[in-house]
Amino acid sequence: MDRVKIAIQKNGRLSSDSLSLLRKCGIEFNESENMLFIKSTNMSVDLLMVRDDDIPRLVGQNIADLGIVGENVIKEKQLSNNSLKIDQKIKLGFSKCRLSFAKPQGFEVGDMNNLKIATSYPEIVRNYLSNKNIDAEIIEIHGSVELTPFVNISDIIVDLVSTGATLESNNLVEFDNVMKSEAMLISSNNISSEKSLLIEKIISRINSVIEAKDSKYIMFNANTKDIDDLIDLLPSAESPTVIPLADKSKVAIHSVCKEDIFWKTIESLKSRGASSILVLPIEKLAN
Ligand code: ATP
Ligand code: ZN
Repeated sequence: MDRVKIAIQKNGRLSSDSLSLLRKCGIEFNESENMLFIKSTNMSVDLLMVRDDDIPRLVGQNIADLGIVGENVIKEKQLSNNSLKIDQKIKLGFSKCRLSFAKPQGFEVGDMNNLKIATSYPEIVRNYLSNKNIDAEIIEIHGSVELTPFVNISDIIVDLVSTGATLESNNLVEFDNVMKSEAMLISSNNISSEKSLLIEKIISRINSVIEAKDSKYIMFNANTKDIDDLIDLLPSAESPTVIPLADKSKVAIHSVCKEDIFWKTIESLKSRGASSILVLPIEKLAN
């Protein structure tokens, strides 16, 4: 049988989370630093280790069946190539960042007309400017974009930001947001029927891992009379399990919550008489 090929970033911000997601899905492999092609040892799956910029095209041309790449790169490639056909499957919840405008501290931006804007995402910026009827010059540059306003290459920049620390240390101030981005699973829209079962299985396992990450298992003891009040306090819980205890006036309540359980929730459960509260991570959640 043809093996399923998954393209992931070889070396960068997406790499380790992509590998660990695939491992959590039960795909086993031994990677070593310079391998460009990694065969899974337990499934009919191969990993293609590539630059993130190449992932949309590899999936679009059906060289890889699946890929993991930032939405920012997907959008840039789709805008620059109308015939690129990929299916976007699942937001993966890691490598979260935003593509933002930034200017040197004290610089007056005005309406942005006639400014020089340096960016590694020329198509996304072009699209943004044309939607707002702004006539500015785009300077395409890959790497050290933050430097360009200080060496007269540009007036302002559009770059990826996560905490903002890099901008700040380069005396730049974020002033407008173009798009949000996170890692995304993409798939070819031309998958052969003999591979489709295995690909469906991988996608469904990825869904389970993602869902589990956002869920917590919570258990606590409570007075029987308070059951309804306490269940109301749980964030988007499934119907909880209520288990009788030896002490007839008490029960144990177990539930899966679809959101993080914050200290606030725990404190309000306690103030309604809950005791022995345990919050556990969930590794996989199959529905
Ligand atoms: P490659 O050599 O594979 O082309 P790269 O330099 O383009 O790598 P990285 O810096 O590793 O890419 O970033 C990969 C992706 O990680 C980005 O496209 C973006 O989706 C995401 N990302 C998350 N946070 C940030 C951030 N603070 N800065 C840059 N990218 C980020
Ligand atoms: Zn890249």
